[in-house]
Amino acid sequence: ALTAGIVGLPNVGKSTLFNAITKAGAEAANYPFCTIDPNVGIVEVPDERLDKLTELVEPKKTIPTAFEFTDIAGIVKGASKGEGLGNKFLAHIREVDAITQVVRCFADDNITHVSGGVDPVSDIEVINLELVLADMESIEKRISRNAKLLKQKDKDAVAEEPVLAKLREAFENGELARSIDFTEDELKIAKSLNLLTLKPMLYVANVSEDEIADAASNEYVQQVRDYAAGHDSDVIVVCAKIEEEMAELDDEEKEMFLEELGIEESGLDQLVKAAYNLLGLATYFTAGVQEVRAWTFKKGMKAPQCAGIIHSDFERGFIRAETVAYEELVEAGSMAAAKEAGKVRQEGKEYIVKDGDVMLFRFNV
Ligand code: GDP
Repeated sequence: ALTAGIVGLPNVGKSTLFNAITKAGAEAANYPFCTIDPNVGIVEVPDERLDKLTELVEPKKTIPTAFEFTDIAGIVKGASKGEGLGNKFLAHIREVDAITQVVRCFADDNITHVSGGVDPVSDIEVINLELVLADMESIEKRISRNAKLLKQKDKDAVAEEPVLAKLREAFENGELARSIDFTEDELKIAKSLNLLTLKPMLYVANVSEDEIADAASNEYVQQVRDYAAGHDSDVIVVCAKIEEEMAELDDEEKEMFLEELGIEESGLDQLVKAAYNLLGLATYFTAGVQEVRAWTFKKGMKAPQCAGIIHSDFERGFIRAETVAYEELVEAGSMAAAKEAGKVRQEGKEYIVKDGDVMLFRFNV
């Protein structure tokens, strides 16, 4: 499963947010394939379509799809030099698919800020510089390893040379690999180097309880937004403390709480959706009387691969899929009516599954 790592300087609210995630926690029994690790929190992906399908099909149970967040504590200035167990944390970041960077945008005199005052852009730069330095070290190693291979006209080393040169130049200017204009071929090579600063990044502006309803007036949030816009990244605004409190409520209580606060969607829900987007993920559904369920897949996946998410046997023995788009199923009112209206398609191995498809896989065992 894909995972987004939560990073940030000390005292910005990472643990509070991660607590909210684990407390809100998806029922682990439903997700046996998810990682069992104290540093991994699994949350359900909110999806109104699932409620609608449940109304329609009236199954015995309904299971949302889930998303994993990994808590990566402890990045500090100097991490790339191994300070404060730095290298270990950087190694953890290497294993995640996207980075969510929590940034402190709340002023609270009782909570020490590691560098003296609240200054979100400077905080972001501290973290990003550590990532850049770590990447710089990896490519320097690569460049010196390739030196000999280049003399032998090694094909891979020759192909890597211009990419490594672009990377080095960017890193020397303190820029992230993400902001480099690569050709498609170059990007493929760059991706093979497993760089930290090539991973998609989402900034999470953590504001105080009394500012969440009117986050636009928080100057720190504006600074983060400006920075992110210049770096091709998104920002979401949360109040980690409120999320932690809200994580213990049931859906109805949660809605009332949100209304009271004057916000439409919980920060956690926004965070999950944003991470989903960032990673190019989408959802398809299975809708039987036993179970209505949402499944996460990567956009562009074909029907057999999507079947394989449920079980590898489904992929191996794939024959075809019966598919109806969510909207068309809802419009028809029932699976039988959708069939009658000719909305249920038979799709083969080459079918590219779309977000919202309701799938029934036919397979040989
Ligand atoms: P971490 O070091 O980044 O994991 O930070 P913590 O989650 O431990 O938070 C540091 C301190 O900031 C704790 O005392 C939290 O209660 C407090 N804190 C975290 N989020 C918020 C918030 O949204 N509002 C306020 N006022 N305090 C917060």
